[in-house]
Amino acid sequence: METQTTAYKPGETIPPNAYPVFRQLGIEYILQDHRHIRSVGNTVIWGQDQVQDRAFLAEPHGDGFHINRPYFEKQLRWSAERIGTQWLAGWTFIDCQEEPDHVSITCTDADGARMVITAAFVVDASGRSAILARKVGSQRKSLDRLTGYFTKWAPLPKTLANMTFIEATQDGWWYAASVSNQHLALNFMTDADLQEINATQLPQWLTDKLQETVYLRTHLATSHGQPFATVHAKPASTSHLDQLAGRLWLAVGDAACTYDPLTSYGITAALGSSLYAAMAIKDQLMGNPEAMDAYRYVQQTTFNQCLGMLQNQYNLEQRWPESAFWKRRQVNVSQAG
Ligand SMILES: Cc1cc2nc3c(=O)[nH]c(=O)nc-3n(C[C@H](O)[C@H](O)[C@H](O)COP(=O)(O)OP(=O)(O)OC[C@H]3O[C@@H](n4cnc5c(N)ncnc54)[C@H](O)[C@@H]3O)c2cc1C
Repeated sequence: METQTTAYKPGETIPPNAYPVFRQLGIEYILQDHRHIRSVGNTVIWGQDQVQDRAFLAEPHGDGFHINRPYFEKQLRWSAERIGTQWLAGWTFIDCQEEPDHVSITCTDADGARMVITAAFVVDASGRSAILARKVGSQRKSLDRLTGYFTKWAPLPKTLANMTFIEATQDGWWYAASVSNQHLALNFMTDADLQEINATQLPQWLTDKLQETVYLRTHLATSHGQPFATVHAKPASTSHLDQLAGRLWLAVGDAACTYDPLTSYGITAALGSSLYAAMAIKDQLMGNPEAMDAYRYVQQTTFNQCLGMLQNQYNLEQRWPESAFWKRRQVNVSQAG
C-alpha cells in the first residue's frame, strides 16, 4: 500500500511506568494538565476471544495518560525555553559539516534564508527521518513494515473512556484511546505491503477493516459503513540506526530507535534516551573516550530487551496461523548489534 505521510503526530498513550522518566527530567507536572486524560487500564482482546480488562490498580506509579499530543509538544517546548534553550521555530536542518573540534550546521527557513550554526556537539532528534545521522552516513535498519492508519472518532463512547482498547484481527491489530472528553484516536496497525490499496480508497478500506473487529465495532455506532472522513498513515516499524553516535553527534528518540506502538514506549524512550544522551555528551566533551560507546551500549541493550518483550507479546496471538501478518511476527527477529 502506498503510504501517505503527514505532519499529524500519532502517539498518545503514556504508560504508568513512564512516570520516573518524567520525574527525573523534572517535567512530571506536564502530565497534570487537564488537557491530558488519565488512563486507568487496558481492555485487550489478544490471543483469545475473551475480553481481558487489565486495570493499573497494582501499578506503583498509579494511572497512565492519554495525552493531547499537540499540547504536549508545546509543553515540552515551553519547559526547554524555561531553562534557557533558544528555540529556532521555522528553521529546518539541511546539512552539517564535521570539523576537528566543532560541527557546522546549516539551516534554512520557509523564505529560503540560510543560517549556519557552530556547535561543539550536535544531537539528532529529528524522529524517524534521522536527517543528521543519515547525512553523516548512518543507515536505518527496519525489522518490519508495520504502518499505522489512524483517524479521529467522535462522539466518545462512554464504554471506551479512560481505557486503552486493543483488539487483534486477522491482518493486524487496532487500538483506541480517548484523547479528549469528546473523541477517540482510532488506529489500525498492519503491514503496508500486505494491503493492495491506493490513498483515495483509504477511508472506505479502514471503515471496512473496522467491521472485521468483533468487539471494537460494537462500541462505535458507525453510520451504516459511512467512510471515515480523514485517514492518516505513518510508518510504525521497529527500527534502529546502524550507527547511533559519532565523535561529535548522537541520535536520540525515534532518530536512534523506533518502537512498535504495541509497546507504548516511543515517547518514554525518546525522553529517557535524552537523559543518557546528556550524560554521554558531558563525558565526551570532558574527554572520556568511552562516552559514546557507553551511550551506544545503553541504547542497544534497551532496544534488544524491548524487542524480546514484543516478540513474546506477538507470539501470544496464534488464532490466525495462515495470516501473513501474524506469520511474520512468529519468527525471531534479529537484534541490534
Ligand atoms: C501510529 C503510531 C502510534 C504510536 N503510538 C504511541 C503511543 O501510544 N505511545 C508512545 O509512547 N509512542 C507512540 N508512538 C511513537 C511516538 O509517536 C514516537 O516514538 C515519538 O514521537 C518519538 O519522539 P521524537 O521526538 O523522537 O520524534 P518526533 O516526535 O518524530 O519528532 C521529531 C521532530 O523533528 C522535527 N524535524 C524533522 N526533520 C527536521 C529537520 N530537518 N529540521 C528541523 N526539525 C526537523 C520534526 O518536525 C519533529 O517535530 C506511535 C507511533 C505511531 C507511528
